[in-house]
Amino acid sequence: MMAPDFAKRILKVEESPTFALERKVNKLDAELEKEGKSVIRFGMGQPDFNTPLNIKNAGKKAIDENKTKYTESTGIKELKDAIVSKFKRDNKIYYEIDNILVGNGAKHVLDNVMRVFINPGDVVIIPKPFWVSYSQQVILSEGTPEFVNFKKDFKIDIEHFNYVVSKSDIAKGRGSGIAKLFILNSPNNPTGMVYTREELEEIGKICLEHNIHIIADEVYEKFLYGNLEHHSIASFSSELKSMTITVNAVSKTYAMTGWRIGYCGADSKIIKQMTKVQDQSASNPCTIAQWAALEALNGNQDSVEVMRKEYKKRRDYIYSRISSINGMECTLPEGAFYVFPKVSNFFRGKIKNSFDFADLLLEKANVAVVPGGAFGADEYIRISYATSIENIGEGLDRIEEFCSSSLF
Ligand code: PLP
Repeated sequence: MMAPDFAKRILKVEESPTFALERKVNKLDAELEKEGKSVIRFGMGQPDFNTPLNIKNAGKKAIDENKTKYTESTGIKELKDAIVSKFKRDNKIYYEIDNILVGNGAKHVLDNVMRVFINPGDVVIIPKPFWVSYSQQVILSEGTPEFVNFKKDFKIDIEHFNYVVSKSDIAKGRGSGIAKLFILNSPNNPTGMVYTREELEEIGKICLEHNIHIIADEVYEKFLYGNLEHHSIASFSSELKSMTITVNAVSKTYAMTGWRIGYCGADSKIIKQMTKVQDQSASNPCTIAQWAALEALNGNQDSVEVMRKEYKKRRDYIYSRISSINGMECTLPEGAFYVFPKVSNFFRGKIKNSFDFADLLLEKANVAVVPGGAFGADEYIRISYATSIENIGEGLDRIEEFCSSSLF
């Protein structure tokens, strides 16, 4: 039989490094179990908390009430109304119901946005370090990701941003390589960096000047630990509101990663095109999960603060532990649940890059971290602290020992 003749675009797409790591760790864990050992997992960006009880009960109730059929492909009216209220309450963005679309998690919503904007060769501007799926979704839509450099504090290098944008303006004359979208992610995965209002205003101004739509991925908005507030760029002006697709999800905020509910607010013309994609591909997100998400957004919010406080405790602990490791450099993350320490001081001998570092750390110390190279920043590794303080303590003991070993 001949080999399948796959589409060129899918062959260009890389597998997700976080899912690939998880598969590798599962295999290793099964072997270690025989020796009574296990891997400390700092890989997946997923809350270790259970979904709050009121939300689980809403899901059960939906099943008992036979709310198990198809819904409108972009979500039930009740949930869209709750999202309109949420955007107003939390983000000061005044959307109406026809500005809202509900999908299968933020990831699905983001893919949906890419599909309605990108022609083959169109550019999507992505600041480094970036969440792994952005660039691959762009490639899946036959677009071209263009990356922007970052400064020491993990914020965008505005000079380089202007350069990338002006390159695209030249391309406009040729009709290809046009920058259509800019991806903004604050609080940021993988760095935990949070933009101030002034910084967002500067970014917004450049995007407006060059007619570039902004995807504002705000899935970590509730997890902030310092004095910084979360600002939604779409709330700044009517121009920015019409040029921004504000993406969010219940996944991280309410520890609901498996329920698969994400959503966005955008100009109704954009939602109309996205609706066509959803009508013809995934249809509605899980009906039961939509009812549970409704309770998440409208119900008691105390659990979010409980989780935030716990993440803050872990952030402070992990930061102090990492900072005391000789050779590792760490910036205090302001939000999300990741630290992104610099490990390039250990690049010698067998270890040439962050992938080698992460591989050896897993092999020798049984600690799983994601190499920074996967996020476009090879001098770093990402450690997720969405795991218990005990695990963090044990994992850091192992990392400390690994870093001081004769391997270096
Ligand atoms: N955006 C960012 C920045 C993320 O880190 C993630 C998940 O890790 C997502 C989107 C996807 O969220 P969801 O699980 O709702 O698809």
